[in-house]
Amino acid sequence: MLLQTQRQTVADYGRRLVRAGLTAGTGGNLSVRDAVSGAVAVSPSGMAYEDITAADAVVLSPAGAVLEGARKPTSETALHLAFYAARADVFAVVHTHSPAATALACLRRSLPPMSYLLALTGRDSVPCAPYRDFGSQALAEAAVKTADGGGAVLLASHGLVCVGADMAAAFALAEQVEFCADVYLRCLAAGREPALLTAEEMARARERLGTYGQNRGA
Ligand code: 13P
Ligand code: ZN
Repeated sequence: MLLQTQRQTVADYGRRLVRAGLTAGTGGNLSVRDAVSGAVAVSPSGMAYEDITAADAVVLSPAGAVLEGARKPTSETALHLAFYAARADVFAVVHTHSPAATALACLRRSLPPMSYLLALTGRDSVPCAPYRDFGSQALAEAAVKTADGGGAVLLASHGLVCVGADMAAAFALAEQVEFCADVYLRCLAAGREPALLTAEEMARARERLGTYGQNRGA
């Protein structure tokens, strides 16, 4: 089976998406790019995450030709492939319909630097891409353009996309962005805008996060 490891990752993280409360039903999708061949393993369209096995993931060429897999690939294939085409640093894409991020996207608002955690995105804030039809090339282009090299972008009236150097990183980022969006909405619900961190504070956070946890830094 082509890209067995990457397809298993797609299946495993699909279940984690549900467990972490980052999606509803069959919403959202995931992919992993193979660094050697450039081929991409994507989740199948409209299948319950609990039922997806490695064999259900579809292997695509960078241009979107099916290399292996009997399932219909995610309707957001263009979105996933657009990130890989535009970004040499991206090897995993996670698209969620997580409630807080989606609520913010429905308000057509960006997530400003209200927490140091947003430095994980490589930017100070999470921008919101304009509304485009789900599954469209236009949505793919709007998302990549609005992300502007960052790790996360909201999709107006739709959801969230996070990208990373691997699936663990992209998924962890989606969890943190969802947490920040939830906290931000709670601040707004309290009738106030939260204090925002300065560019200097965010730059320091980014630096410190580089050696956070078991990371020893360069
Ligand atoms: P798929 O089930 O086709 O992956 O679509 C879900 C989705 O999130 C569309 O934007
Ligand atoms: Zn979606």
